[in-house]
Amino acid sequence: MSDQRPGLSGLPPHELTEWLAAQDEPAWRARQIADALWTGGGVTDAAAIVTLPAGLRGSLGAFARLDTVGDTETQVTDGGLTEKALHRLDDGVLIESVLMHYPATRGSRERHTLCLSSQAGCAVGCPFCATGELGFGRDLETAEILDQARHAARRLATEGKRLTNIVFMGMGEPLLNLDRVLAAVEALNDPRRFGLGARHITVSTSGVVPGIRRLTSLGPQFTLAVSLHAARDALRDVLVPLNRRWPVAEVVGAARDHAAATGRRISYEVTMIGGVNDTPEDADALAGLLRGDHAHVNLIPMNPVAHTPWTASPMPVIESIAATLRAAGIETTIRRNRGQEVGAACGQLAAQRAGEPPAPAVARRRERLVLASAAALRGERSDEPVPAGVGE
Ligand code: SF4
Repeated sequence: MSDQRPGLSGLPPHELTEWLAAQDEPAWRARQIADALWTGGGVTDAAAIVTLPAGLRGSLGAFARLDTVGDTETQVTDGGLTEKALHRLDDGVLIESVLMHYPATRGSRERHTLCLSSQAGCAVGCPFCATGELGFGRDLETAEILDQARHAARRLATEGKRLTNIVFMGMGEPLLNLDRVLAAVEALNDPRRFGLGARHITVSTSGVVPGIRRLTSLGPQFTLAVSLHAARDALRDVLVPLNRRWPVAEVVGAARDHAAATGRRISYEVTMIGGVNDTPEDADALAGLLRGDHAHVNLIPMNPVAHTPWTASPMPVIESIAATLRAAGIETTIRRNRGQEVGAACGQLAAQRAGEPPAPAVARRRERLVLASAAALRGERSDEPVPAGVGE
């Protein structure tokens, strides 16, 4: 049976104060606990909070888990610039976070960005994404989200460095676990807890329109990124199956309203897939869709995923799409793929651990995707259903 104790990092501050009151402890002990939990990524064991009396350390450890991602393996790639962490949660579920280091350049300071997960697996099922291949497992608890950030912060603290940016672009669709994602963002942003500025936090969505509208009603909290991948519905139905529930015009309409209400620029992510979403028609459709918007487009070469028939667009093709967008007045960046910079690549380690599906199933999946994308390029809408667990 999994551990029923709450994760301490995800506990709202007033609940910690109430718990302390029930132990006949003064409220100021909460400050000591928060300092120990959040400074430099914090402690992972109540016994290490030496500012507390021994009895309180014992009862705190019995009450709550100080680290929900304690069982973690890391792999370093890209010559030390990318660190992938595979976290085994208390119930055995695997999730990933990716820490990316960006050395200082003439125009920018050194950055350390963490891409973290909000769900184990994902119900959306984008076919170019390793997490989508896994299907949906469960929502992460607030503490499980935050402890990924604390893990990375501890890792950086050993070199005297700090996490500078957090992006919710790992496993899962953050807006389908929105209450816990918002609670996590509040803790990340809180100067008395993680203390990261709102402008340094980005939450990505594949287009959950009610979630975007709810964020808009809350005002500016962080940067909103939309995983667009295609501007034409027929193709987006295949690449982002959520599009069958909320078509692209609705998604961009909600994002546009968000930008107008919050004054914050929307970031659009487009994974570039050779021969699929990189035609001149796609470039024109994208330019037409976003022309005049307060928006920035990131074009990202697709990461190879085991069971798709697709590969990344060639760089000259991506450059020509960027030129079309820029000519339409849309700020556009081509991102070097770190292997993990978008959700498209997160989930690869967990998928490997889940084992290979049988060869006939892989062959059927590839064949279905080839047919579906060919039909989409002819402009035919998909008649496949909206993925289960999405958009009720
Ligand atoms: S790209 Fe994002 S929304 Fe799509 S399946 Fe992967 S994790 Fe889910």
